[in-house]
Parts: sequence; structure tokens; C-alpha cells
Amino acid sequence: MSGISPFSLSKQPPLILVADDDKAIRVLLRKAMEQEGYRVVEVTDGKQCLDAYETVKPDIVLLDAVMPVMDGFTCCKHLLQIARNNLMSALASLDTDSGLGNTVISKLWGRTPILMITSLDDEQSVDRAFEAGATDYVTKPIHWAVLRQRLRQLLQQAQVYKQLEEANLALQQLANVDGLTGLANRRRFDNYLNTQWINLAQEESALSLILCDIDFFKFYNDQYGHPAGDLCLQKVGTILSNKAQKHQDLVARYGGEEFAVIMPHTHANGAIHVAKAIQAGVRNLQIAHRGSAVNQSVTLSIGVSSIIPTWESSPSDLILAADKALYRAKAEGRDRIVLN
Ligand SMILES: [Mg+2]
Repeated sequence: MSGISPFSLSKQPPLILVADDDKAIRVLLRKAMEQEGYRVVEVTDGKQCLDAYETVKPDIVLLDAVMPVMDGFTCCKHLLQIARNNLMSALASLDTDSGLGNTVISKLWGRTPILMITSLDDEQSVDRAFEAGATDYVTKPIHWAVLRQRLRQLLQQAQVYKQLEEANLALQQLANVDGLTGLANRRRFDNYLNTQWINLAQEESALSLILCDIDFFKFYNDQYGHPAGDLCLQKVGTILSNKAQKHQDLVARYGGEEFAVIMPHTHANGAIHVAKAIQAGVRNLQIAHRGSAVNQSVTLSIGVSSIIPTWESSPSDLILAADKALYRAKAEGRDRIVLN
């Protein structure tokens, strides 16, 4: 770890928020920190520290234990509470998205380190500091070499967490996204349908599913080649994304030339409306398709089904119903929408 510079990833030098009521100490701390190349913001008590924390978003907090107005222990507890509140509001806003859950957890790991400075080097106040949520502590009078090393170490740790978070996000992306179209993949489709099923069974609210297939796509590939086929899939995928615009709608590549839209809180009428918009959108692309027996350009067969989920039924019932509708759309001559 010692080879990693705390500056290596961030564009700006780390920002240290220093809270100490002793002006002489603050001056010394600032000088020492600035010698290390860090930026410094000073405050004189715990209350000011809380206010500054939200606005300056420091990389680390250096917190004196004994201060007027609000001491370091109390301030530390509040800082932890802020981190918890941020986590709770992130959790509340992500509905049931399991992928994002991991991001939130890694955000919790990456919370700002708090280094307590205390002249009370008895065991009790050390325990108090850790109980309050401090990441580490140093004692007064300050041993400058120790402080420098602790700071370096904590900043490096925070950087590693940040890198882990980025790697985690990249992996989630790979695991959930179809590489060709950028839409959700089958894995993500299955997870999302399952979680929405549980939600909507509780709420007794409607869930709709659109399944659609590009007509005579095998012949398209035969006629124009696979690179053109890939481009066609991408263009159709973009239309689906643009037309299914409700916040909770999920557009997925379901199979080779098959796409799906999961539409929570949507009745059959709403789903048909979106299906018609998708159908029109694809027609308007006017992608020439000489291999098609039903049209001169690319068209879709679309199956739609709608259900109010229950504990007795399962997501596969909805998939089966939409699949039957899609089958009928094909059997009845393709380039059409069928509701089951
Ligand atoms: Mg003090």
C-alpha cells in the first residue's frame, strides 16, 4: 500500500477539515498539513464542524476531543448519523433495485474517516472515541510523524475504497447490461421482474409485459449480413428505450432478436399504448428488409399481457401469457400487436 500516493486518483489534493478550539494547535496543524500538500479548512468547535462537513465535503476530519459548544465525541456521533441518514435516503430512493444496493453498501464503507485528537490518552477516552465512531486517534502533544503517517494511511484507505466502488460499478454494469444494445440483459430482466412481482403483489397493482420480435430477422441477417443485423438490433433497441419512458419501466434484450418491456403500475391499456408507439417508431425507421414477407421494411410482432400479481401466481405466468400473445401475433400474419 505504501506505493500508492493519496493524490494518484483525485485531481485536487485531499481536503482536511480541522476542528480544534486551540488557535495555536490549529496554526501548527495547518502548517503541517499544508507541508504535506493537503488543503485545510479550520473550524473551532463541533457544531461548526458539522456545518462545514456538509458544505466542504472533506476527505478526512481531524477532530479535537475537548471543545466548547460541542465536543469531539458528540460531533463524531453526529457525523456518523449524517452518514447513516445519507445511506437511508439512498436506500429509500432505490426502490428494489438489487444492483444499486451494492453501490450503497460500498458508499457506507467509503464514509469519511474521522481522526480524533485527544490529550486524554487514558483508555477510557480512547474507548469513547471509537464508540463515537472515530476511525483512529492520535494524542496531544501531537507527535507529528505519527499524525502524518496516520493521515497518509487513512487517505490511502479511502482511495482504495473508491477504487473498489468503481470496480464494483463496472462489474454490475457487465453483469446486467447487454453488450450489443446497452439494454438490460436477460439476467437483469429476471431479477427485476421477480422484485416487481413481490412489490406489486403487496400493493395489488397491475404489472404489464411487452414481448416483441423483429419479423423475419433470420432472413435479414442472411440478406444483409450480421454486422447490419447488429445495427438493426441497436436501432430497434433505441426505439424501445425512447418509447418506454416511465420511471420504473425496464427495457431488456430478452433473446436474439426478442425484446421485452416490464411495466410496473401499468394496466393493459397503458401497455398497448406503449406497444403502438414502439410499433410506429420501428416502422418510421424504415430499415429496408427484402427478406420480410409482410413489409418492405423492418417490423415487429408484439405480444402484450397484463396481470395483478398475487402470491399464488408467479412471474412465469405473465411471461407465458405474453409469449402466447406474441405467438398469436406471428401466427396471424406478423407486424401486429396482440393482447392476451
Ligand atoms: Mg480542545
